[in-house]
Amino acid sequence: MTFDCQACGACCYGPEAYVAVTTTDLCRMSPTVQGRYVRPTGDGRRYLKMVHGHCAALHARQGHFSCRMYAMRPQPCHEVEAGSRECLDARRRRGIDAE
Ligand code: SF4
Ligand code: SF4
Repeated sequence: MTFDCQACGACCYGPEAYVAVTTTDLCRMSPTVQGRYVRPTGDGRRYLKMVHGHCAALHARQGHFSCRMYAMRPQPCHEVEAGSRECLDARRRRGIDAE
Protein backbone atom coordinates (compact mmCIF):
# COMPACT_ATOMS: atom_id res chain seq x y z
CA MET A 1 0.00 0.00 0.00
CA THR A 2 1.46 3.37 -0.94
CA PHE A 3 0.53 6.80 0.34
CA ASP A 4 0.98 9.94 -1.65
CA CYS A 5 1.03 12.81 0.85
CA GLN A 6 0.85 15.41 -1.92
CA ALA A 7 -2.45 13.95 -3.04
CA CYS A 8 -3.81 13.65 0.51
CA GLY A 9 -3.13 16.33 3.15
CA ALA A 10 -5.55 14.63 5.55
CA CYS A 11 -3.36 14.91 8.65
CA CYS A 12 -3.28 18.71 8.24
CA TYR A 13 -7.06 18.90 8.89
CA GLY A 14 -8.32 19.15 12.46
CA PRO A 15 -9.90 21.22 15.23
CA GLU A 16 -8.69 24.60 16.55
CA ALA A 17 -6.20 23.28 19.10
CA TYR A 18 -4.81 20.58 16.79
CA VAL A 19 -1.04 21.09 16.51
CA ALA A 20 0.76 22.41 19.58
CA VAL A 21 3.82 24.59 18.98
CA THR A 22 6.60 24.57 21.57
CA THR A 23 9.28 27.17 22.19
CA THR A 24 11.75 24.77 20.54
CA ASP A 25 9.52 24.70 17.46
CA LEU A 26 9.37 28.50 17.48
CA CYS A 27 13.17 28.71 17.37
CA ARG A 28 13.11 26.95 13.99
CA MET A 29 10.56 29.39 12.55
CA SER A 30 11.20 32.76 10.96
CA PRO A 31 9.27 35.74 12.40
CA THR A 32 7.16 35.81 9.22
CA VAL A 33 6.19 32.16 9.55
CA GLN A 34 5.40 32.61 13.23
CA GLY A 35 3.16 35.57 12.47
CA ARG A 36 1.32 33.81 9.67
CA TYR A 37 0.84 30.35 11.07
CA VAL A 38 1.17 30.36 14.88
CA ARG A 39 -1.70 31.29 17.19
CA PRO A 40 -0.88 32.18 20.83
CA THR A 41 -3.74 31.34 23.17
CA GLY A 42 -2.92 34.01 25.75
CA ASP A 43 -2.14 31.50 28.51
CA GLY A 44 1.36 30.69 27.30
CA ARG A 45 0.37 27.97 24.85
CA ARG A 46 0.56 28.17 21.07
CA TYR A 47 -1.01 26.22 18.25
CA LEU A 48 -0.86 26.29 14.50
CA LYS A 49 -3.60 28.53 13.12
CA MET A 50 -6.47 26.65 11.52
CA VAL A 51 -8.48 28.02 8.61
CA HIS A 52 -11.54 26.30 7.14
CA GLY A 53 -10.76 23.19 9.16
CA HIS A 54 -7.14 22.81 8.15
CA CYS A 55 -3.78 24.24 9.10
CA ALA A 56 -3.30 27.72 7.67
CA ALA A 57 0.03 26.59 6.22
CA LEU A 58 -1.60 23.89 4.08
CA HIS A 59 -1.71 24.82 0.43
CA ALA A 60 -4.51 22.84 -1.18
CA ARG A 61 -5.22 23.26 -4.85
CA GLN A 62 -6.80 20.99 -7.42
CA GLY A 63 -6.16 17.85 -5.42
CA HIS A 64 -2.55 18.78 -4.72
CA PHE A 65 -1.46 19.45 -1.14
CA SER A 66 1.73 21.00 0.16
CA CYS A 67 3.02 22.65 3.33
CA ARG A 68 4.00 26.30 3.13
CA MET A 69 6.34 25.95 6.12
CA TYR A 70 7.62 22.43 5.53
CA ALA A 71 11.24 23.09 6.58
CA MET A 72 10.05 24.94 9.70
CA ARG A 73 7.05 22.78 10.65
CA PRO A 74 6.67 21.88 14.35
CA GLN A 75 7.57 18.54 15.86
CA PRO A 76 4.07 16.92 15.73
CA CYS A 77 4.15 17.34 11.94
CA HIS A 78 7.41 15.39 11.80
CA GLU A 79 5.91 12.55 13.79
CA VAL A 80 3.01 11.62 11.52
CA GLU A 81 4.46 9.19 9.01
CA ALA A 82 2.69 7.96 5.93
CA GLY A 83 1.08 4.63 6.74
CA SER A 84 1.19 5.17 10.51
CA ARG A 85 -1.89 4.80 12.70
CA GLU A 86 -2.24 8.61 12.88
CA CYS A 87 -2.07 8.77 9.11
CA LEU A 88 -4.69 6.05 8.63
CA ASP A 89 -6.98 7.70 11.21
CA ALA A 90 -6.63 11.07 9.50
CA ARG A 91 -7.36 9.55 6.08
CA ARG A 92 -10.43 7.80 7.48
CA ARG A 93 -11.68 11.06 9.01
CA ARG A 94 -11.36 12.71 5.61
CA GLY A 95 -13.09 9.84 3.88
CA ILE A 96 -10.02 8.89 1.88
CA ASP A 97 -9.91 5.27 0.88
CA ALA A 98 -6.55 3.94 2.07
CA GLU A 99 -6.72 0.77 -0.01
S1 SF4 B 1 0.97 11.28 6.33
FE1 SF4 B 1 -0.87 10.18 5.72
S2 SF4 B 1 -2.60 11.51 6.25
FE2 SF4 B 1 -0.72 12.78 6.21
S3 SF4 B 1 -0.62 13.60 4.13
FE3 SF4 B 1 0.61 11.71 4.15
S4 SF4 B 1 -0.80 10.09 3.48
FE4 SF4 B 1 -2.06 11.87 4.10
S1 SF4 C 1 2.64 22.84 9.35
FE1 SF4 C 1 2.52 21.84 7.37
S2 SF4 C 1 2.62 19.63 7.85
FE2 SF4 C 1 2.07 20.71 9.75
S3 SF4 C 1 -0.19 20.67 9.84
FE3 SF4 C 1 0.45 22.60 8.85
S4 SF4 C 1 0.40 22.17 6.65
FE4 SF4 C 1 0.42 20.22 7.72
